[in-house]
Amino acid sequence: MNPNGDLLYFDNNATTPVDPEVLDAMMPYLRGHYGNPSSVYRIGKEAARAMDTARGQVAEALGCDAGEVVFTSCGTESSNAAIHSALSVDRDRQHLVTTRVEHSATLKTCELLAKRGYEITWLGVDGEGRLDLAELRDAIREDTALVSVMWANNETGVIFPVEEIATIARDKGVFLHTDAVQVVGKVPVNLGALGLQFLSLSGHKLHCPKGIGALYVNRRCRFTSYLTGGGQGGGRRAGTENVAYVVGLGKACEVAVRRLEEEQVEVRALRDAFEDGLMRSISGVVVNGDRDSRLPNTTSLSFTGVDAETLLLLLDQNGLCCSAGSACTSGSIHPSHVLKAMGMSDDRARSSLRFSFSRFNTRSEVERGISMVVGAVAKVRAG
Ligand code: PLP
Repeated sequence: MNPNGDLLYFDNNATTPVDPEVLDAMMPYLRGHYGNPSSVYRIGKEAARAMDTARGQVAEALGCDAGEVVFTSCGTESSNAAIHSALSVDRDRQHLVTTRVEHSATLKTCELLAKRGYEITWLGVDGEGRLDLAELRDAIREDTALVSVMWANNETGVIFPVEEIATIARDKGVFLHTDAVQVVGKVPVNLGALGLQFLSLSGHKLHCPKGIGALYVNRRCRFTSYLTGGGQGGGRRAGTENVAYVVGLGKACEVAVRRLEEEQVEVRALRDAFEDGLMRSISGVVVNGDRDSRLPNTTSLSFTGVDAETLLLLLDQNGLCCSAGSACTSGSIHPSHVLKAMGMSDDRARSSLRFSFSRFNTRSEVERGISMVVGAVAKVRAG
């Protein structure tokens, strides 16, 4: 079944359609099983058991222990919680290292912290969106509380070498947080082998509804809760848990693990066919970012001489959804901070669109999408 109907939904890095299997798993907890997982009677214990199952499913997707999974409301909360904790547990460590291409969940948080007097070192990227690891190593100081580096970029799909970054952080004795919101469900994750302290993920990027996320907290790491209140989440996240959505996140992770191998190939084939089709049929199309280290579902393309916002609106009128920059910057006149950090001119950044695919896209959608984009670019270029 295709939840998209006739819509060409090529914006899966913004959010994904809910998998019917996920919705089916959630429904009992929205209908009958309304118990509070902290209650001691039967329906409370049922809810607590459902959450334990979900915690195990998320842990399986991450390659960590179930006890290291803390449920949150979204990826943004997870990243905020990691940064907050790292700055709170050791008052002698108040310096942060992050990159200029982070999602606003990290970027804006660090900008705010800078205004409050914390010192932030911002790492740049090269023209392909890659980090300089020597620069990262040099940026870490005695008083560094945390290195926060995204695993994969939401706009370009460029994957940072988290394994190597984890080795550097370990050598230097500092905490590492990675924003893996765009990674989980798309490429394998094995935290057991990585040895980092925090990882953020978000349900709605992997076919679960919006409003649920998780934070991995390494069991050897001191952690202090971002929200104060009840002792939920083992004291690591106060607030009554969103049981149905937690169950959904668990199921979404289970499906992702089951399908990962095959999807990496199939979704990549769709992305590549789309990219190749456009590059063959339209002049002046350039791929943004490192093509050798990229999420299999994402392509960011510059259409030389084309205003991306105009193209985006035209495609929307024809029933194709994609994105100009990240969802948060789309609709604004500012060119994407990620493309700008890669050294692009305003004009090139403003001529870029991101297309991102998922298991619910098909070959025939890709074919229709190619001819639609070809027609729309010709129309915009003709003025
Ligand atoms: N980090 C990345 C890389 C993202 O792409 C997003 C969402 O677009 C987020 C964080 C924020 O996640 P959420 O929407 O669950 O707060």
